[in-house]
Amino acid sequence: MLHLLVCPQCGRQFDADHYATGERLQCSCGATVDVATAVGHDAAVVRCSACGAPRNEETDQCRYCGSSFTMADQDLDTVCPHCLARISGRARFCHYCGGPILIDQATAGNLALPCPACVSETLRSRQLGRESVAVAECGRCGGLWLDNTVFAIIAGRARQGVLQGLGTAPHTDPALGAPLPVSRRLYRPCPVCRSLMNRHNYGRSSGIILDLCHAHGIWFDLEELPRLLKWIQAGGEEAAHHRQADEARDELRQKQLAERTAQPDTPGWGDRRPNYDLFNDLADALGEGLRHLFRRP
Ligand SMILES: [Zn+2]
Ligand SMILES: [Zn+2]
Ligand SMILES: [Zn+2]
Ligand SMILES: [Zn+2]
Ligand SMILES: [Zn+2]
Repeated sequence: MLHLLVCPQCGRQFDADHYATGERLQCSCGATVDVATAVGHDAAVVRCSACGAPRNEETDQCRYCGSSFTMADQDLDTVCPHCLARISGRARFCHYCGGPILIDQATAGNLALPCPACVSETLRSRQLGRESVAVAECGRCGGLWLDNTVFAIIAGRARQGVLQGLGTAPHTDPALGAPLPVSRRLYRPCPVCRSLMNRHNYGRSSGIILDLCHAHGIWFDLEELPRLLKWIQAGGEEAAHHRQADEARDELRQKQLAERTAQPDTPGWGDRRPNYDLFNDLADALGEGLRHLFRRP
């Protein structure tokens, strides 16, 4: 049974399996999290465990993502840290309360992640707006690190237009003063694996260049996350998708046109091509002639 704990202050989730009941964990947001015994209770499947959308009574499949609702009833080996319902270990959302289940980040109480931009600074956990997910923030430059799973959840909510507290600027620690500008180095290290991250224009046309580690997550400089979420919420992804499809179609049309103009429609070209039928006829005729010549009298 996977026992997840959630930090009451920042929403970060921890795996409490390695801790004894009554032990206290220090979260990197500064809060202390008490390890309590989690007694899971059975709860009705009223939400999709793949996308968190509410269940439509008549269907067995989620009308948003197509996942089967019966999947939520299998392998009930995890306790939802939000409502203590017994849920599937494969659930990304609780099938009862719809809260996100972040097994990926549930390893340690404290984050020991360096800021990819400032390097010397350590990231701290904080809640993202009023969403029940935690992100890691640098108190110096105001940049944000999002686990891939957290970003997928947040982007999905932006697409559905249900994001809470979108547009609030990242609130850096007031004691540290205004966020400091960072140097725009071309490649920055992933705070988790330290390998250099890729630079990526999100959606190919959002104009927001992110630092991305495929295995771990995405780094957002100050204000980049709210800008990107607004772009997604305004349907930027779909528009970009249509534009890319149009571009691909235009490209194909141009290519076909170019091929057609290069084709031998012009008179003269055809004449220069060897006429194999003529050759064959000649050869036949020659053969006949030769046979005639050598025919014995
Ligand atoms: Zn916390
Ligand atoms: Zn779904
Ligand atoms: Zn729950
Ligand atoms: Zn920083
Ligand atoms: Zn990485």
